[in-house]
Amino acid sequence: MIENQGVDLIERLKSAISADEFNHFISQIRFNKEASKSDLLIFNAPNDFIAKWISTKYVPKMLQIYESQYGNRPKIEVLTLEHSPKKPKQSILKVVNKNANLNLSYSFENFVVGDSNKFAYESALKVAEVQATAYNPLLIWGGTGLGKTHLLNAIGNKNTQKKVIYTTCEQFLNDYTLHLQNKTMDKFREKYRQCDYLLIDDVQFLAGKEYMQEEFFHTFNDLKSNNRQIVLTSDKLPRDIDKLEERLKSRFQWGMVVNIKPPELVTKIDIIRKKCQLDKIVLDDDTIRYIAQNSNNNIREIESILIQLNAYASMVKQEITLALAQNMLGRTQRQMKNISLDDILSSVGRELNVKPSEIKSKSRQKEIVRARKIVIYLARSLTPNSMPELAKFFDMKDHSSISKTMRTIENEIKQNQEFKNTIEHLKSKIQEMK
Ligand code: ADP
Ligand code: MG
Repeated sequence: MIENQGVDLIERLKSAISADEFNHFISQIRFNKEASKSDLLIFNAPNDFIAKWISTKYVPKMLQIYESQYGNRPKIEVLTLEHSPKKPKQSILKVVNKNANLNLSYSFENFVVGDSNKFAYESALKVAEVQATAYNPLLIWGGTGLGKTHLLNAIGNKNTQKKVIYTTCEQFLNDYTLHLQNKTMDKFREKYRQCDYLLIDDVQFLAGKEYMQEEFFHTFNDLKSNNRQIVLTSDKLPRDIDKLEERLKSRFQWGMVVNIKPPELVTKIDIIRKKCQLDKIVLDDDTIRYIAQNSNNNIREIESILIQLNAYASMVKQEITLALAQNMLGRTQRQMKNISLDDILSSVGRELNVKPSEIKSKSRQKEIVRARKIVIYLARSLTPNSMPELAKFFDMKDHSSISKTMRTIENEIKQNQEFKNTIEHLKSKIQEMK
């Protein structure tokens, strides 16, 4: 009966969205009956872009429709055919890693290396190449959307001939509870202790779960003493995880602890290039730079900007231009980041070595006038302040000198590449403050 439900869902979605959206996106996916189960519906998309777009944009709606129709909420996944789980073939002799949990696109090849993530990348590659001899455990820690899960999957993907378990800490906890209820703890232990690589994502979720920490402690010791590789990720250093037993904290730091930092501008630009190449999105250099400068450091968010831009451009049948990116990103980002005039003043002051109070003063000294003009230009570009509001901030009679300044700076940016670079550098400094 799964078949009817999947097909039916697409039909129902058709009446809930515009014909344009349906024809453009939804009509491209197919329900995959073979791979689906009662609690997991799988749809296939022709490419990664459509799969990602439908997952972010339409799956929540599909879940809603499904629930109101059938009274429960299954998991819905939209995958390209190559990523869909296939029925195991009986005749395979070799042990091939068919761990459905691994995301195949999270490979080392698809990971862009820069100063911010170089050590994490190199350490991950090392443990992927030599099991349990380099560092054991390896723990990668850092903020959200910086590539921890990507690297963890890459280690698994490089070891297709070995027994790899990738699991989020939450799944691990759920699995534990399930086996405990079913009185099958021996199976649980067998599963997690008989692998070559145990990859556990987001171990900070162990915090406060004492019952689980005990089990985890024994799993850890068992694997380690049998030379099995353990790789963990966390959003903070183990010593900063509250309510985590000391013995686990110390074990997590036995091997190698590496930090992933927020990407610097050049790395962000490289990542955007790579994503465009993978998703076949065409962007010119100025647009790439604009997106890198005007997005925050969470790479997941940058990806979602690209997906939205691409979807919008294909819907209105237009190429992605700088103007389109500015239009879509500009206002929301500015408002989101809440950059204030004082942020700009202090940042420009620091970078150009002029006191903020001087920039705000009536001084006609050359360097100060120049800094003032730059602050005005940046304020118009990075904050929602109107020209009269800016005139008031600088205690000017009216806003005519603001508009004159804007024209002067815009012209100079067009004519002078070095000046353009300075302005871009200042912009990213201000944005980094946020
Ligand atoms: P985290 O686990 O640290 O929150 P993820 O590994 O889930 O972050 O990364 C978020 C998204 O950003 C993923 O789609 C990932 O592929 C991408 N990403 C992060 N860092 C890089 C990188 N250096 N190169 C390419 N893609 C990256
Ligand atoms: Mg993660």
